[in-house]
Amino acid sequence: MTYSTEFFHRVEGDLFIEQVPLSTIANEFGTPCYVYSRAALDSVWQRYDRAFGQRRHQVHYAVKANGNLAVLNTLARLGSGFDIVSGGELARVLAAGGEARKIVFSGVGKSAAELDAALRAGIGVFNLESPDEMERLNQVAGGLGLRARVAIRVNPDVDAHTHPYISTGLNENKFGVPMTEALALYRRAASLPNLEVTGVACHIGSQLTDLAPFEDAMARVMALVTALAADGITLSHIDAGGGLGIRYKDETPPSIEDYVAVLCRAIPDTYEICIEPGRSICGAAGVLLSKVEYLKTTPARRFAICDAAMTELIRPALYEAWHDVQTVSAEAAQQPEHRYEIVGPVCESGDFLASDRPLRLREGSLLAIMCAGAYGYAMASNYNARPRPPEVLVDGNAVHLARPRERIEDLFATERLLPDDPK
Ligand SMILES: *Cc1c(COP(=O)(O)O)cnc(C)c1O
Repeated sequence: MTYSTEFFHRVEGDLFIEQVPLSTIANEFGTPCYVYSRAALDSVWQRYDRAFGQRRHQVHYAVKANGNLAVLNTLARLGSGFDIVSGGELARVLAAGGEARKIVFSGVGKSAAELDAALRAGIGVFNLESPDEMERLNQVAGGLGLRARVAIRVNPDVDAHTHPYISTGLNENKFGVPMTEALALYRRAASLPNLEVTGVACHIGSQLTDLAPFEDAMARVMALVTALAADGITLSHIDAGGGLGIRYKDETPPSIEDYVAVLCRAIPDTYEICIEPGRSICGAAGVLLSKVEYLKTTPARRFAICDAAMTELIRPALYEAWHDVQTVSAEAAQQPEHRYEIVGPVCESGDFLASDRPLRLREGSLLAIMCAGAYGYAMASNYNARPRPPEVLVDGNAVHLARPRERIEDLFATERLLPDDPK
């Protein structure tokens, strides 16, 4: 079982999200369609929040995992902060009722316009990723007569050999500044008139399923914090980033409570602890509903060709990621079981959602692709001129259409034909 039976369960064989049959949602809104559980979002966010107990902390949900306004609004109502990586995400958070002072701005390439917009909005802190960005922020803030609160995002360079599962994160020298340069950069930041140094940040990767890399990273960050204090630079918050994994197949990620306990142990209680979870908040809260258009048998394989594709869920094509695929309706039991390639209509051989899955299917069968709440719609595209699906948020027995299906005419509404050729 890879989905939480608390929010997804079967009643007489039919798959429900909270109190609503997924087949009802497919009938009402069509397929493909993303469906999210409000209770699941609430539950995970509150587990994070409660795990800190009396410790001063702030959970900043990483918007890039799922930026739908209804999702952001759900979390804003709980008091969540937000981790953004663009001016677009800033606007989304503000439109969703998020508080500006609880926004953290991450990312290696913030433009002057984005820095300006975030300063005017009064966000909480900028996580700086390079010396040049620091100079630019100082300049933009000066122009506005404002002081920007900053943290420096460091790359703790956790040993790749001991933790090979995050080796892709380690080789990414694009992110953060090397530990060896951090002290000098902090000194420079402290000397700039329009910056106020408040913290340090790190984010070591995504879908981590072990606590050791987090422990190592925090130890290194705290060594830096100690060195800074000796140098007269005292920080008030430590941002441990996001990255806690979820169970897509058979992974055994640490519990939220164990993860938070590691942070609380590593960080002295004089510091506020900030975290930036994305996937672990919304990933398991959502499914992608799809319908089987055709069953096609070739000499080598059986294909179930669905109306969802890599355009709706690119993770399998991009990372060979594994998502559980469930039939939605009880009647599936009447079909013979075969091993299927679950593919979409997109004209790419890499367009697959799942491979070699034993399923009982017929033309028209409804499928739920589980754990599609994070990096699903957020990475969706219009490739092959495919309108993006609707997003639905379920709350108990209430069904809220959070975003209607894109219409075909929306796809090219802003495009222009050439002017007439000269006579
Ligand atoms: C992507 C990202 C996150 C969230 O990562 P998850 O794996 O979704 O938890 C947090 N912080 C930063 C800086 C990121 O880039």
